[in-house]
Amino acid sequence: MNTIYWLRNDLRLHDNAALAALAPTAAALLPVYCFDPIAFGLDPYLELAKVGPHRLPFLLETLADLQRGYAALGSGIHFVVGKPEEVLPALAQQVGAAEILVSNEATTEEEDAVNAVADALGPNTKLREFDNLTLLHPSDLRIALRDLPLSFSKFRFDVADKAQVRPPLPVPTRLPALPAGFAPAPLPDAATLCAALGLPAPAPRPRDRRSALPALPGGETAALARLHDYAVERHLIGRYDDTRNQLLGEAFSTKFSPWLANGSLSARQIWAAIDEYDAAHGARSKGAMQLRLELLWRDYFRLLAARTGPAFFQWRGLRGQTPKPLNSNQKKFDAWTQGRTGNAFVDANMRELLATGFMSNRGRQNAASYLIHDLGQDWRHGAAWFEHQLVDHDPASNWGNWKYIAGTGTDVRDTAFDVPQQAKRYDPQGRYVRTWGSAKP
Ligand SMILES: Cc1cc2nc3c(=O)[nH]c(=O)nc-3n(C[C@H](O)[C@H](O)[C@H](O)COP(=O)(O)OP(=O)(O)OC[C@H]3O[C@@H](n4cnc5c(N)ncnc54)[C@H](O)[C@@H]3O)c2cc1C
Repeated sequence: MNTIYWLRNDLRLHDNAALAALAPTAAALLPVYCFDPIAFGLDPYLELAKVGPHRLPFLLETLADLQRGYAALGSGIHFVVGKPEEVLPALAQQVGAAEILVSNEATTEEEDAVNAVADALGPNTKLREFDNLTLLHPSDLRIALRDLPLSFSKFRFDVADKAQVRPPLPVPTRLPALPAGFAPAPLPDAATLCAALGLPAPAPRPRDRRSALPALPGGETAALARLHDYAVERHLIGRYDDTRNQLLGEAFSTKFSPWLANGSLSARQIWAAIDEYDAAHGARSKGAMQLRLELLWRDYFRLLAARTGPAFFQWRGLRGQTPKPLNSNQKKFDAWTQGRTGNAFVDANMRELLATGFMSNRGRQNAASYLIHDLGQDWRHGAAWFEHQLVDHDPASNWGNWKYIAGTGTDVRDTAFDVPQQAKRYDPQGRYVRTWGSAKP
């Protein structure tokens, strides 16, 4: 029986349920990465490429690394630009695939893509979905999705604490060969890909030496190296709780997010590293506990997106909250994007984002709150700008955090940040503002 594996945000060999489930009966395997014009197209609010200037090169590095990994195990990857619902059924027919494996996503656009493929498949090919992208396996949660609490604390104590995180799955030692005679199309470079998608090619961006991101490329190899370095070599988990609200340098937080977002790092692999850290240090450290909590936040936003569907991305409140009235002003919005609002703390954060594709969690909270609550702009435009700029963009974490700060998520309390007070507290000497005070280092 031939099998197709539709690769999406599960770009790894380690802890991969789809690869682990490959039956020894799989005669041949065709891994396919589809550059979908919808996922790679323009967002509806700002008409900017959803996969922007930082994420696109990172993704291409990730795919190149994965391709090397597949080749080392006797397989390969076929790269194609086109709609999955057209590309995959045609390939299934061409190679006689009885199954298409795919990892479940939580958000509507990604789910719609899976449904479109399922609808387009002929009677001889089945779509087989895997829960590959969260920390907690949905079937270990002991609640139906519709019963997910609309409160993170309730989720944490009543649901997550009662579930066990499964150990990560091992890397396969061998993969089935490609279908006989099938010549996979190569990974395109950025210029070729953008031309095929009808998008302008992003200008190459040299690394900004002020970047908080470690100088590592995309891909599973670098992701696992970062995990090892952070957790094992430098024992940074123990300090995480004290450093996580800082703003400068690569060590204050894990920086796992770009790899987690495209699935080149598994949350369960991180959890196992935290377990090892605790075991080696003979106690449950505060840093380890806080890091576990952050990984649960990531799961929570995914579950919430799956529970609420399109409402997760909409203006109205998930709990009937009335959104604050808008004072739409294009000039104010543009100034915010370019780090020219006049608020030095917000501007420094927005410049860092523009230059590197990254911003700390503290920065994201303040920059988002300022746009919504101080400038009176539409949070969805802010979320779309982040989607375009962030190297670690993840639809559930980005749109979920924005919606929360807009006061239209699961919290009914005032969610505005006091930005001047936050700047004083987290940048007391103004080092961060000075570092990002100009567009160039
Ligand atoms: C407005 C806004 C937009 C955001 N957009 C994204 C996004 O597109 N992609 C993304 O991965 N995170 C997003 N976050 C969450 C958080 O800011 C980043 O995950 C974090 O800054 C990434 O750096 P790190 O890996 O060093 O995080 P660490 O502090 O080391 O945390 C470890 C991991 O925990 C998870 N995590 C931490 N905080 C959160 C959180 N608040 N919500 C969900 N998961 C969390 C992430 O997977 C992160 O990699 C956003 C937060 C805000 C306020």
